[in-house]
Amino acid sequence: MNKQSSPVKKVVKGDGSTPQTEDNASKDTADSTTAEPKTEETQVQQEQSSANKPLHNTGEESKKIPAKSTQIPVVAPNQPKKEQGQKIVYLTFDDGPGKHTEKILEILNRYQVHATFFMVGRQLSGYEQAVRDSHEAGNYVGLHSMSHSKKKLYDGDGSGAFIKEFTQEQKLMKQILGYSPTLIRAPYGSKPEIGYNFRGDIAKAGFKMWDWTVDSKDWKYPNSPDRIVKEVKRQTHRDVEVILMHEKAQTIKVLPQIIEYLQKKGYTFAVYKPDQHFSVNFGKDPRL
Ligand SMILES: [Zn+2]
Repeated sequence: MNKQSSPVKKVVKGDGSTPQTEDNASKDTADSTTAEPKTEETQVQQEQSSANKPLHNTGEESKKIPAKSTQIPVVAPNQPKKEQGQKIVYLTFDDGPGKHTEKILEILNRYQVHATFFMVGRQLSGYEQAVRDSHEAGNYVGLHSMSHSKKKLYDGDGSGAFIKEFTQEQKLMKQILGYSPTLIRAPYGSKPEIGYNFRGDIAKAGFKMWDWTVDSKDWKYPNSPDRIVKEVKRQTHRDVEVILMHEKAQTIKVLPQIIEYLQKKGYTFAVYKPDQHFSVNFGKDPRL
C-alpha cells in the first residue's frame, strides 16, 4: 500500500463524516455488508467537458482513418466513445456471482440493456454457469479480487497481495470464460487505500481499474429500496455515469425502476469494452 501520504496513524475517512480508524470493526466485513463507498461524485476521467463544444476530433483524426469508418465518432483513447450530446450510463454490479445473478440477467434482458459485472473470485465455484451466462448475454465480466477482504488486500505492505489476488482471479476467469478480463474494481473503491504507486503497480500488471461516479448505496438500504432509487436520481446528472450497484435482493427490487428512470432521462446503456477503455477512478489516474 502506498503509505507515503499518511505518516501518522492511518485515518480512513468515511463518507465525509466521522473519521474511522483503519482497524475499526467494519474493516473485514466483506462477507455480509460489502460496504464499498467512499466517494460518490468522482468525475469520469477526462469526460468530454461540455456537450455544447464542437466535437474536437472531427478534423485531424477523421482524415487518418478509412472512409468506411468516418461514421464512427472518433474519440481520444481515454474518453468514452460517444456522439455529441449523447448520454451514456454504465450499470455495474459488484459482489457476485451468487443466487441473484440470474435474476439480474433476466431483468437486463427484459429491458434489452447490458451491464458490467465485478465478480468475486472465491464465489466463482458453483456459479460458473452464471458467470458464462452473464458474459454470453453481452455483459462484461470484470474482476473484484479473490477474497474481497479489506485486511488481506490493503493491510499488507504495498500492492503485492492485491495484484496476486486479481491475477489469480483472472486465471480462474480464463478457465471459465476462455479469455482474461482486464478490468477490475477494487473492493471498497480505490480511495483511500490505493495511492499513486499502488495504482502504478496495478497498471504494470496489465489491469485497468474502474471506480464509479454514482453510488446507489444499495448496500446501505436493505430495507428501504426506495432510498436506492432516490440516491441514483440525486447523483445522476453527467453525460457519462458509472453506477455502483451490488447483487443484492433490494437492488433487484428497484432495478426496473432505475432502468426506466435512466431511459426517461435519455441515457443509452453501455457495457464496458476493453478496446474502448476510458478512465474512471477516484485518483483521476490516466494510467488506469
Ligand atoms: Zn464489493
